[in-house]
Amino acid sequence: MIERAGGSAVRIPAARMLIDGQWCDGIEGRLIAVHDPATEEKIAEVVAATAADVDRAVQAAHRAYESPSWQKMRPLDRGRLLERLALLIERDADDLARLETLDNGKPYGVSRNVDMKFAMDALRYYGGWSSKMAGEYIQLSPFFDDGGTYRAYTERRPVGVVGGITPWNFPLGQAVQKLAPAIAFGCTVVLKPSEEASLTTLRLGELILEAGFPEGTVNIVTGYGHEAGQALVDHPLVRKIAFTGSTLTGQKILAASARTMKRVTLELGGKSPTIVLADADLDQAIPGAANAIFPNSGQVCTAGSRLLVEASIFDEVTQGVARLAQDLKLGSGFDPLVQLGPLVSARQLDRVSALVAKGIEEGAEPLCGGARDAGRGYFYRPTVLSGGRPDMQIAHEEVFGPVVLAMPVQDPRDIKALANDTAYGLGASIWTRDINKAHLLAAQLDCGTVWINTHNVLDLAMPFGGTKLSGLGREFGTEVIHAYTEPRAVCMRLETSAFD
Ligand code: NAD
Repeated sequence: MIERAGGSAVRIPAARMLIDGQWCDGIEGRLIAVHDPATEEKIAEVVAATAADVDRAVQAAHRAYESPSWQKMRPLDRGRLLERLALLIERDADDLARLETLDNGKPYGVSRNVDMKFAMDALRYYGGWSSKMAGEYIQLSPFFDDGGTYRAYTERRPVGVVGGITPWNFPLGQAVQKLAPAIAFGCTVVLKPSEEASLTTLRLGELILEAGFPEGTVNIVTGYGHEAGQALVDHPLVRKIAFTGSTLTGQKILAASARTMKRVTLELGGKSPTIVLADADLDQAIPGAANAIFPNSGQVCTAGSRLLVEASIFDEVTQGVARLAQDLKLGSGFDPLVQLGPLVSARQLDRVSALVAKGIEEGAEPLCGGARDAGRGYFYRPTVLSGGRPDMQIAHEEVFGPVVLAMPVQDPRDIKALANDTAYGLGASIWTRDINKAHLLAAQLDCGTVWINTHNVLDLAMPFGGTKLSGLGREFGTEVIHAYTEPRAVCMRLETSAFD
């Protein structure tokens, strides 16, 4: 147990892995220290899994996948497993949210009302999909006449064993986002959470056992990306990698997957623009732009990290966003008044600090923030940088921190080019009162999601993913069936004379 302010006692899961329905140690016994990002105190350890550990987990997932009981399980009953897990998360949501806050740093209210709700919703949403797997009946046009009639049908088959590799910004939600569609469509899974935030995924393992998932259908290995993650990607029995994380890692995974021709879905980084047109309702657009970047301390893949504002309202908007940023209370996620927690790690704090320093060196002007917070913990002050130019490094690199770069747009005809001037293509928001401008501009943006007069609304019913370096494939919505299943065509010849 770890005690935190407000009398919160947080139970820490043991440094073990879930393989074949059993909790087990790593073969080599190596551990990774886990720190509270708000205090820098060591709070736990997790196993540093080796390739041999990953092999055990994949073999278990493969056996479970091939087992007649799993193959024959009714789709509706796979959905019921997910529903049972959702109910257990609902029961333990306060505890899980406290653990997420301790491990990741985010405010408890966010862990409880965003992360836990998303996890429960995702389990229910995908649980519903389990009974919606359907193929097609196809009439063929053979180029010969052998007296027969040809017909075909397709059925959707699960891809097989899925490796789910997740980042640290929404740890439990991301783990569920990988396991729920996999189980719904009849795959089995090996999850590998981020070494920076594995604790809630391990607690999820306890609930998975309690919910009665068959042994080996969900396995959890912890460890480093270059070791445990890489071993999962290289394993020939893993048929698909469902990955969320940085573009650099996504590129390595895509290249390595070629060797075994794995299916991949890659949800990667972003440099999403928040575009404020001169006719926007600024009472909505200014808080909207602040909300696009600062929640979760900017550690959101779709964060609106580039603020493109028409020149006539540039000062009003940027100063308004800076005022809101200055008012945000930074501190321990266990303090109910706190709105921004720390960044997840010292490494992330160093990265954010270096990118902002470089931006300032290149001529950006901090309207607020621009430095880490004094004292212990990996806190970075919410930052609005004005005077942004497209040639700056910070205009192109993902910061993944509470930092927005504002750029004035002199001529509205430049907006499309400025917005698309990024290697990424995850999201964008447009703030305007003009419905024509909104939809015409939306059609010109090269990204997976465009929001109009809102930002960061993600819904499980809406396909989610990116263009360009933001990824490959889509999760959520009707697209998800393509991500976890493949069609198998069955062709038949009917003897036409049978009824002669
Ligand atoms: P990361 O790429 O460093 O790590 C993500 C996961 O990949 C971790 O589990 C890590 O251990 C593993 N990994 C690292 N190297 C690996 C390798 N060679 N082979 C296999 N696995 C490996 O990312 P991060 O720092 O944890 O997360 C932040 C990034 O995630 C940001 O770029 C953010 O934009 C992105 N992200 C994207 C989305 C999205 O849906 N598009 C959502 C959240 C976060």
